[in-house]
Amino acid sequence: MATRNPGKEQEIKTLLLGLPLEVITLLQLPPLTLPEEDEDTYGGNALKKARALRAAAEARGAIIMADDSGLEVEALDGRPGVHTARFAGRGAGDEANNRLLLEQMRGLPPEQRAAVFRCVIALLFPGGEEKLIEESCHGRIAAAPRGRSGFGYDPLFIYEPAGLTFAQMGEIEKSKVSHRGKALRRARLLLA
Ligand code: IMP
Repeated sequence: MATRNPGKEQEIKTLLLGLPLEVITLLQLPPLTLPEEDEDTYGGNALKKARALRAAAEARGAIIMADDSGLEVEALDGRPGVHTARFAGRGAGDEANNRLLLEQMRGLPPEQRAAVFRCVIALLFPGGEEKLIEESCHGRIAAAPRGRSGFGYDPLFIYEPAGLTFAQMGEIEKSKVSHRGKALRRARLLLA
């Protein structure tokens, strides 16, 4: 898996549980620099990250999985989109990103706070076959952070059928409906 994000690693390991697979992330491999995520689509970025692991995977006969995701806010014309991770600047953390998002949406009423999380998973198989899976989850941006679980923008993303933010739902309930949860369940079918 082309990730160093422990939040994603946990979510992905849980969703692949029971498959006869050992999940290895970049945290368990010799240091490897992932390419800049500078493509203008999630799929382009996911494939770019996955392809960077080809040499390491070939030596093990492994399947490579990489994902790219982002948050698109309607009132911000779809921003931050593919730039979601570095919304508040290169190297900015979750807190700075969340603060900037709240600032840019200050004063907007609930009906103007619609947003969608998108996730694309790239799978590269040892034979060279490449697959892309795309899923999304619609919600609304809260006026202030709520909840403690998850990562990234979870405290700000309200999943309306539950009336809770992803950070209030907890990992299991979130993954039943989230962009990544849905994409991973489809990926699981291709890995089984
Ligand atoms: P990437 O897919 O690792 O490039 O992440 C893109 C950005 O979206 C990061 O800032 C993540 O924190 C954020 N993000 C992606 N998925 C989620 C999620 O499920 N919850 C909260 N933030 C997310």
